[in-house]
Amino acid sequence: MTRILIAEDEARIVSFLEKGLQSNGYTTIAVGTGTDAIALARDDAFDLLILDLGLPGADGHEVLRQVRGRGERLPIIVLTARSGVDDTVGVLEGGADDHVAKPFRFEELLARVRLRLRDDSGTASATVLAAGDVELDLRTRCVTVDGVETELTSREFSLMETFLRNPNRVLSRTELLSGAWGYDFDPNSNVVDVYVRYLRNKVGGDRIETVRGAGYRLRG
Ligand code: CA
Repeated sequence: MTRILIAEDEARIVSFLEKGLQSNGYTTIAVGTGTDAIALARDDAFDLLILDLGLPGADGHEVLRQVRGRGERLPIIVLTARSGVDDTVGVLEGGADDHVAKPFRFEELLARVRLRLRDDSGTASATVLAAGDVELDLRTRCVTVDGVETELTSREFSLMETFLRNPNRVLSRTELLSGAWGYDFDPNSNVVDVYVRYLRNKVGGDRIETVRGAGYRLRG
């Protein structure tokens, strides 16, 4: 069982992280202060720490300093408020393994978690996702359908990636929004339907099915 410690004081981000990580088979424990994170972040208790920088008690930099200072080696992914160069350099020098700038998409974080845990050999280093005759290259962001390559916009790419990580599964609009847009979305918006339409134009209409009252499904 892989256990992930989440140190984050914003409730909606905690719930976004816990829901996503648990549905991917991880066990999560969340704390809202840096002091609690320092107390709990031990190699023998957790496999990974997701650490917010702006925490009450002790901030993320202090947590890094203390946890690394006592020799704990568990992988640490820091959530930074913005992609400020100072923050990035600071946390990496402070011993973080990786960082993700807020707001982030869940898939983006998950990819980094998997990379750090290296627990699902194969998908951890996969650069191409495939289902049926559809392939998505994660580096070039191109989709190939039946051998024909098409470029995707960044939003189309995020949505396609979410589908390809869950082939044959019915994904609700909320799941798709969370996977492709992150937590800063308006749940009433119809962007998912709009972008599914764009994607269908590029990959072929019958590959993404509408499941009435439930959402959409990519045929694998
Ligand atoms: Ca915070």
